[in-house]
Amino acid sequence: MAEIFVVVEHRKGEVRDITFEMLFKAGELCEEFSHSLTAILMGGKNGAFINDIAKRADRVISFEDERLENFNADLYKEILNRLIEEHRPFLTFIGHTSWGMDLAPCLAIKTGYPLATDCVNIMVENGRPMVMRQIYSGKVFSKVSFKESQGYLITVRTGAFLPEERAEHRGDVIDKEIPTDLPEPHKQFLEFVDTGAGEVDITQSELLVSIGRGIGEKENIEVVKELTNLMGGVISCSRPVVDKNWLPKYHQVGTSGRSVRPKVYLALGISGAFQHVAGITGAGTVIAVNKDKKAPIFRVADYGVVEDLFKFVDALKEKLGSG
Ligand SMILES: Cc1cc2nc3c(=O)[nH]c(=O)nc-3n(C[C@H](O)[C@H](O)[C@H](O)COP(=O)(O)OP(=O)(O)OC[C@H]3O[C@@H](n4cnc5c(N)ncnc54)[C@H](O)[C@@H]3O)c2cc1C
Repeated sequence: MAEIFVVVEHRKGEVRDITFEMLFKAGELCEEFSHSLTAILMGGKNGAFINDIAKRADRVISFEDERLENFNADLYKEILNRLIEEHRPFLTFIGHTSWGMDLAPCLAIKTGYPLATDCVNIMVENGRPMVMRQIYSGKVFSKVSFKESQGYLITVRTGAFLPEERAEHRGDVIDKEIPTDLPEPHKQFLEFVDTGAGEVDITQSELLVSIGRGIGEKENIEVVKELTNLMGGVISCSRPVVDKNWLPKYHQVGTSGRSVRPKVYLALGISGAFQHVAGITGAGTVIAVNKDKKAPIFRVADYGVVEDLFKFVDALKEKLGSG
């Protein structure tokens, strides 16, 4: 029976959704091929999330040490390398996040295992892993195989899988000491720097109000912001809005932006180009407002409103008590 490793990602006492997304996909593969699923947790054992992880894995291997309180790619690399040597996992999943982009390449060098990055699907065919990646900024999917190896490393795109539980497990938590002879890390955690009051993480919001070129002018964004605040959501956008410098890049949804998974996605003046729509495949209910009834966004919308977006926004604001 082969093993699949999932490296848990957590920050400031909270587990990141990418962890559950990876556990979901790894769980699916484990069920299909009778593999076993091991979550690797470094630091953060006292976080409230440990039970949620144990429920989704066959075991959690936990390293607790004050040096692991914050992510450090050097330490993670050393510890994971030794664990991989010991267990020889078939696959190791790491989030394609700022953590993973730091950790995975150096782990690949250290272990000698091949690495595929930013994968949106992972399959196993004839005993060998295959992954799907997007190339040419999402225009084409490529199916990638690996050179033969004992184990394989994969970084997983955020939002590519659901963060849901499959069969409930009761994974044991196994405490491990970190090796005593770890080399001094080259990098040191100094502090978290807040990147500004306006910064938002659109991947974490349950309600996104998204604007497209149909907004017309930068000044018009204000009315949508008012609506978004009334609804308790977060504003996101299509690429032209970012290209015109109307909103910062971290608001952009789509293949060259972020993949999002809100419960409700309200698209205002967005045509529905595939590069945009690829970023909302995990959204719950999609509501589109567009004055062109032939706009492709209506093909993926659960509810469509053929209307001028400003009329729609005003009407909704009035309904919500701020007319
Ligand atoms: C390599 C590459 C990567 C890309 N990556 C991304 C990406 O990550 N995300 C992304 O979004 N795009 C991306 N794009 C761009 C993408 O192809 C589209 O050009 C873009 O999504 C269109 O944005 P839009 O829908 O806001 O604008 P448009 O296509 O111009 O659509 C505007 C819509 O607003 C409607 N409208 C206008 N006025 C009003 C009004 N008053 N009320 C109601 N409706 C109105 C119009 O009918 C129209 O449907 C990428 C393109 C390339 C080539």
